[in-house]
Amino acid sequence: MIPISKPLLGEAEAEAARRAILSGWITQGPEVAAFEREFAAAVNAPFACAVSNCTTALHLALLAAGVGAGDEVITVSHSFIATANSIRYTGALPVFVDITPETFNIDPARVEAAITGRTKAILCVHQMGMPCDLKVLVEIAAAHRLPLIEDAACAIGSEILWNGNWERIGKPHGDIACFSFHPRKVISTGDGGMLTTRRAEWDRKLRLWRQHGMSVADTVRHSARQVVFEEYLELGYNYRLTDIQAAVGREQLKRLDGIVARRREQAEWYRAALAAISDVQTPAEPVWARSNWQSYAVRLANPREQAEVMQLLLERGIATRRGIMCSHREPAYSREPWRAAGALTHSEQAQERTLILPLYPQMTVGDQQAVVSALAAVLERECVA
Ligand SMILES: *Cc1c(COP(=O)(O)O)cnc(C)c1O
Repeated sequence: MIPISKPLLGEAEAEAARRAILSGWITQGPEVAAFEREFAAAVNAPFACAVSNCTTALHLALLAAGVGAGDEVITVSHSFIATANSIRYTGALPVFVDITPETFNIDPARVEAAITGRTKAILCVHQMGMPCDLKVLVEIAAAHRLPLIEDAACAIGSEILWNGNWERIGKPHGDIACFSFHPRKVISTGDGGMLTTRRAEWDRKLRLWRQHGMSVADTVRHSARQVVFEEYLELGYNYRLTDIQAAVGREQLKRLDGIVARRREQAEWYRAALAAISDVQTPAEPVWARSNWQSYAVRLANPREQAEVMQLLLERGIATRRGIMCSHREPAYSREPWRAAGALTHSEQAQERTLILPLYPQMTVGDQQAVVSALAAVLERECVA
């Protein structure tokens, strides 16, 4: 059986978890602080704040941007549901903009028309690790004095060409970026999240909110020589990452360059091998983007084939997933309020016509060959892989 994905974890991570456990401090503490420093250095961000997952990261990013009830946030429906949900947590209205079919990312040409007097932020998604057209989005956001939040859940290690240099997603190029360490992403801590920002004031708020709005960090109280009474300054949350997870994350971060290089090699292998199957369209990077290929989505010429092809592949021992969901089509959003700025045709077609193929660093060329030949057989096409 070839799974869709598999986290790359080993002795180093097990040893790190053991170290944290035996240290006697297991919730947010010195490992989290070290993970934040190392993550900030890895993406070249001024500030990094760890949280429990990317959904809570998105919630805090929206709060930092001042988003609340009655506001509108421009985003995509074509994303994991957490993107839209995080907007609803604040009471704001998600305004869905269509994607460009080539990149599966928000179509920057449609963003400006979606802006109203109620718009409070733009939340773009680097879908499946492919960077958004940040240059244009940053310009639009600046022209309208709107904060730009990047949902970089999938994009750790992805790069964008910025003023002639390749820079990692998360610098951040917008105002704040949110990452996920769920096992389906490129590096994992089981669950986990990280926010990077250029704004010191936002970073200070994130640190307050992730720990109940508590005035004194528990590590500070723990090591204080004098009795400390804490205060709860604002409505906060428990969105902490644990030191056990952070210790694992630090080891995962050491593997990041190798994992991304491997995934890029594997994506290139798929591209070349799948070129022979004419009704399978492979994804392409814009010249200014380097994806980490968190997911590898191919488009089928015939949409009627999607479920059937997936089933036949499953019977051959190959797991696939359909294209990224459209939040507006989910039952939850028949009750939750939202608005579409224009048609969502490309979003819906991407969901219906794409197939995500297995891709993870432990996959061998033989595994990839098996996927491509099974796909060719199922589509009754000749396979040259
Ligand atoms: C996975 C994902 C999330 C949620 O991340 P969690 O860490 O599981 O909360 C949010 N947005 C996108 C685009 C994702 O792929």
